[in-house]
Amino acid sequence: MNYDKELDNIICGLNGKKPSLLLHACCAPCSSYVLEYLNSHFNITLFFSNPNISPEEEYQKRLRELERLVALMGLSVKIIEDDYTPQEFFDMAKGLEALPEGGERCRKCYRLRLLKAAAQAKQDGFDYFCTTLSISPYKNAQWINEIGEELSEKFGVHFLPSDFKKKNGYKRSIELSRKYDLYRQNFCGCVFSKKE
Ligand code: SF4
Repeated sequence: MNYDKELDNIICGLNGKKPSLLLHACCAPCSSYVLEYLNSHFNITLFFSNPNISPEEEYQKRLRELERLVALMGLSVKIIEDDYTPQEFFDMAKGLEALPEGGERCRKCYRLRLLKAAAQAKQDGFDYFCTTLSISPYKNAQWINEIGEELSEKFGVHFLPSDFKKKNGYKRSIELSRKYDLYRQNFCGCVFSKKE
């Protein structure tokens, strides 16, 4: 499935309308390109919901960096900060701690965060929800999009398919990170990825 093409088709079909989009954001570097790409097509609100990130200092650092990015890009984009609930992540990851990055723990981690985004989008009446996660070459875009579709049906909110690493999206995120001097973490987010 070409999720990037699917996104292009949806954007083409908007015919100049700008629907509201709740964009789940994992960090500033990944959000940089996605904001640049989607901002002219959607009224974006960012959603920082990442119980996977530990320790809390790291979580706060990534959130502050996201706020700084929005200001530096001169965007009028609001950020909704979800409650920080790391125990929820650890409960989800029970028995999967030793798996390498990219395995079943990660699939469940995508779902945990997308579930929160879908619920928030439904509660606040957004037209679409989406995530920045597919920009990373380390993340499984097929899983992300399958989960998004499943939750779209469950909550009755459109999911915006994506594979943001296409069209050199990942490369552009590195350029933007340099331009804005963003903090680029060297691990995905959880304690297990930090050890790995
Ligand atoms: S490696 Fe990343 S995606 Fe996988 S469980 Fe840890 S934080 Fe989540």
